[in-house]
Order: sequence, then C-alpha cells, then structure tokens
Amino acid sequence: MLSVQEARQKMLDSIPVMSSESRQILESTGYVLAETLNATENIPPFDNSAMDGFAVQSKDVNGVSKEKPASLNVVETIAAGYAPKMTVESGQAARIMTGAMMPEGADAVVMQEVTELTGDTVSIFESVEENENVRFTGESVSLGDCVMSPGKVLRPPEVSMLASLNCSEVKVFRKPKVAIVSTGDELTPLGEPLEPGKIRDSNRYGIFAQVDEIGCIPIDMGIAPDDEAETERIFRESISKADALITSGGVSVGEHDIVKNVLTKLGEMNFWRVAMKPGKPQAYGNIDGKPVFGLPGNPVSSLVVFELFVRPALLKMAGHRDLFRPTFKARLETDVTNRDGRVNYMRAILTEENGHFVAKTTGPQGSGILHSLVLANGLIIIPDGVTIKAGETVDAHLLT
Ligand code: AMP
Ligand code: MG
Repeated sequence: MLSVQEARQKMLDSIPVMSSESRQILESTGYVLAETLNATENIPPFDNSAMDGFAVQSKDVNGVSKEKPASLNVVETIAAGYAPKMTVESGQAARIMTGAMMPEGADAVVMQEVTELTGDTVSIFESVEENENVRFTGESVSLGDCVMSPGKVLRPPEVSMLASLNCSEVKVFRKPKVAIVSTGDELTPLGEPLEPGKIRDSNRYGIFAQVDEIGCIPIDMGIAPDDEAETERIFRESISKADALITSGGVSVGEHDIVKNVLTKLGEMNFWRVAMKPGKPQAYGNIDGKPVFGLPGNPVSSLVVFELFVRPALLKMAGHRDLFRPTFKARLETDVTNRDGRVNYMRAILTEENGHFVAKTTGPQGSGILHSLVLANGLIIIPDGVTIKAGETVDAHLLT
C-alpha cells in the first residue's frame, strides 16, 4: 500500500497547470495571477499630506506650545486633486487637505486639531518633526518594484493594487472545469421515490460543492449505471466537456469491474490502495492528458479523499502555490487507539481553549456515516498502531 504522502506526491507530480487568459479587473476576483506585475507608476505618485492641517517649514514651529504659539501667514488652500500654486516660505503656511500635494518649501504638516485659523493667520500650538504627516512618492510601491508574481490569488487587496497600478486587464490561469459522475445502479436522483435496495446519490452533490468551494467550475454529468457501454459514453462525454473528471464509486476490490474497465479502456489509470482510513481504494490517471480522479463510493471516503487528494490537485491546476491546509496540533479530549494498519483521518470538532485547540471526535466513524462529517469542523490524523491518551496532542486540519 502507498502512504498518503507518497500517493499524493506521485499524483500531484503529474497534474498539469491550466493555460492562461486575460481578464478584466472586475472579473478577476478569486483567479490566480499568471504573470509578474512590476509597478509602472509610483504609489503614491507625489508627496502628499496624511492629515487635514497646515503645511509648514518644521523649523518655524520648533518648541511652540498652547501658551507660546507660532503665528504663520496662510498663503493658499490646497485641496485633494489640485497642484499647489505657491511656495511656502519661512513664516508661511498652506492649508492642506488629506491626500493633497505637498507644496514646495514645506517639509511637514501640522494637524488641524492643534491650530486656530483667524483670517489669513494660523496659530500653531504643537511642533512637528521634519517629514511628519507627509506620505512620500513611491513609499507604498516604487516604479519598477515587483508587486505580485504568478501564483498570487487575486483577493480584494490584490484587485485594489491592480487598480492602483492602472491594470484594467490581467493575465490569470483559467479555472479548471471539472466533470462529476456518480456510478452505481443503486443511486436514485433527488425527487424520485426510493425503490427497495436503492439509495440517494449524495456524492455527486458533495463533490460538486467541494469543487465549487475552491473556485473551480463543476459540471454535473449525472449518474452512470452499472452498464459498461453507458458508463463509457458518459465518461467520454464528461471528459470532452471538462479539464478534469471526478468519478465516485466502483474502484474497490470486489466491485463489478465496470468503472475500472471503462477508465482503463479510456485512459492511463493507476488503481491504488492508499494506507488511509477512510478512502483506501482510489484511482488516478488521465484521459487525453486530462486528470481523472476515481473516488471511493462511501460518502465519507469520497469527501475525505477529495479533501486530501483532489483539492490540492485542482488547486495546482488553477495555478495556486499553497496547495495544502495548514497542519497544527490539537489536544485530544479522550483516548484514541488506531489498530487499522493505516493512518486514520477522524472527523472531529476542534475548539479553541486558552490558546490551544482541543479535539473531540464526532461519534461513530464508519465511512458511510456522513453525519460524522456534518458534525465536524476538522480532521485529526491518528497514525497507525498507536494509542494517544487524552491530553496528548495530534496533528489536525481545520476544514472551515
Ligand atoms: P462502491 O465503491 O461503488 O462499491 O460503493 C461503496 C459504497 O458507497 C456503497 O454502499 C455504495 O452504495 C455507496 N455509494 C456509491 N456511490 C454513491 C453515491 N454517489 N452517493 C452515495 N453513496 C454512494
Ligand atoms: Mg458501485
């Protein structure tokens, strides 16, 4: 059996990254940058005031106080958006608004709250240091600076930065389109009555939501029955419409070999037994160079294998650099023993207490017990062959 790390690395090594496209800035949120962005302008583009107040020569207000104010002659008012007309000489000041351009001659701004304006004369009650309350040309970003590189996710701050740099179009990685197919004669679509022996098809919806949640584009391709020709037709159609295919069910030993036969016929597939619980049987490979993920049918296994394998793979396709959830330590609330011969990803409720995470498992952990995941906000990782006592720590992932 392969370890989770071996299997995941092998799979990730073969995952291609999507090609890039140009997008309008307002349609770029959540995409991943595919180019290096160097600043073509200074931000800010000119020295400006950080306060509403008076631009002065700092030496003119050295040592002043409420009792011994400086009296300066106000030569003009500079509003945001306009260039100053005057030079501020010694003994003079310019009224200035936040974001307005600093006038020649002045080297600091006194905030309005410590001044009093009477006609053309301002009394200054507090001193300022040279450069105080001034924002300098290029202090945020200088012309030529590398501001963002490929792999950067375009969140609101990045979109704002693109606008600051006058980028109305940006090169991003295309979002992967991911076709999703459930397999099995027992599956009944929503809205139809359950006949004896049938169950609801839950995996397709869960996988759809997982694909959607990470910003890829899910395509619902329905249910493939346990019929080889029909399964082949649906898989072919799915791969022709998408950049990747996810199937669920039909990859374990003792299965009707339909799914495995069809996948083998259509592409280059590996059927792996990964030393993990839930989710031991999995299939990976490609059809026409497009990644194919064959998830196990049990609902918990399907969701957990997506989380640990398919999620990082799709993030890689979409151009992301950070593929994995952070791992941190959580303290167990009760003893846990693992004698399964494989690492156990247990569903847990993680809460923070006094700066530490505490983990409590969510009851019965069978791979068909979907409720164990609904109750959970994380996974805890229990290595094979150990008993971990209450109060000891384990590795954990938050899933929220
Ligand atoms: P399989 O891997 O096809 O042997 O399926 C393993 C178990 O998962 C069986 O109990 C199936 O009925 C169940 N199962 C398979 N596909 C789904 C699905 N799409 N939704 C819910 N349960 C499923
Ligand atoms: Mg099946």
